[in-house]
Amino acid sequence: MGDAREGAQMPDIRITNCHVHTFTDRHIPRFYPHPVLWVFKRVPGLVRALSFLMRLFGQHGLGDTLDRLHRFRQEAGAPSQEAVLEQLAHHYPARTRFVVLPMDMSGIGHGPVAQCLRDQHGELAALARSSRWAGRVIPFATCDPRLPGAAGEVRHAIEDLGFRGLKLYPRFGFAPDHPVLMDHVYPLLVARGLPVISHCSRGGVRGAGLSDAIADEYTRPQAFEPVMRAFPDLRVCLAHFGGYRDWQAYVNEGLMPGDARAEAANWQVAIRRMITSGDWPNLWTDISYTLFRFDEFVPFLRMFLEDDRLADRVLFGSDFYMTRQESLSERAVCVRLRVALGERLFRRIAEENPCVWLGEV
Ligand SMILES: [Zn+2]
Repeated sequence: MGDAREGAQMPDIRITNCHVHTFTDRHIPRFYPHPVLWVFKRVPGLVRALSFLMRLFGQHGLGDTLDRLHRFRQEAGAPSQEAVLEQLAHHYPARTRFVVLPMDMSGIGHGPVAQCLRDQHGELAALARSSRWAGRVIPFATCDPRLPGAAGEVRHAIEDLGFRGLKLYPRFGFAPDHPVLMDHVYPLLVARGLPVISHCSRGGVRGAGLSDAIADEYTRPQAFEPVMRAFPDLRVCLAHFGGYRDWQAYVNEGLMPGDARAEAANWQVAIRRMITSGDWPNLWTDISYTLFRFDEFVPFLRMFLEDDRLADRVLFGSDFYMTRQESLSERAVCVRLRVALGERLFRRIAEENPCVWLGEV
C-alpha cells in the first residue's frame, strides 16, 4: 500500500490510524506482567534462544509464539518513541496519520517505571512537532486520575503542548466517572472540543491485586454512561469494539435474540446497541486489535457496517505494536481489511470518520 508506484495506481487516500502506541520499556513497570519476565527484559536474545530450542525439539507452535513475543519485546525495547513510529510507518501509505496513545503505568502496583508521564508526554510532543512527523502524529494525553497531579498534567499536555485528546485505561483500577475526571478533565476536553478514547476489552493490563470482575466493572461499555449523560457533547470512543473474547463468544456461541441481559453482557453487542439506539450520539468505537487478530471477524464487521448509524461511528485503528504478537503483519491485515470492506466502507472508517471524531470538521 505504501510505495509511490502503488500510490499512482490507487485512489488518493489519507488514512488516519486512530489507535497506536509508541511507548517503550521506559514506560512499562519493571515487574510487569510478572517478576519472572524481568529476566527476559534484562537478557537480550533470551526469547530468541528459547524459540530456537523449542524448534529444535519440534515445538514449532511454541517457537512461533516465542518469535512473536520476541518481536513484541523488540518493539518495546526500542530506544525511543520515534524508533517505534519508524517501524509502524513502514506498513502504511506515506500520508497516513497516527493517533498516538501514551500509557501511565506508574501507579498500577507492578513496580516503578523508568520515565515519568511528563517526560513521556514531552517526548511525544517533540515528535509531533518535528519536521519529519508534523501533521502525521496526533498526540493524545493520558492520566491515571488516582495519582497526584493527574488533571494538571492533562491540562499541561493540552494547553501547553497542543495535544488533541485523552486516552484512558480504566482496567488499571478506576471508574470512567472518577471525580477528578468528572470535575477537572472532561470539562477541559468539552471546552476545547477534544475526544476521549478508553480501553474497552476484557484483555489487557490490569492493576496489581485487581480481580478480573472488578476490572471488567470499570471497563464495560455501560461504565461510560454517567460520563456521557453529564457531558453529552464529549466524543467518546470505546476502543477495541468490546474486544476479542466478546467477539469470539458472539461468533461461536451466539446469544438468544431479545435477551436484554445477554446483549448487555456481551460488550460487542452492547456497544452496537448503544450506538444504533441513538441515545448516545457521541459514542464511537474502534476496531483496533480485535479485528486485527481474527480474520474470521471481518465478515461480521462488514455486515454490521450495513447499519448507517454504526458505519458513521466506527474508527479504523490497529493497536500497533500490540499487534506484533500476532502472525500477520500490520500491512497484511490492513490491506485484507481494505479489500474485505471495499474501498467505500474502508474510506469511511479510515479517512472520513476519524476527521469527525478528532473534531476537524
Ligand atoms: Zn491499545
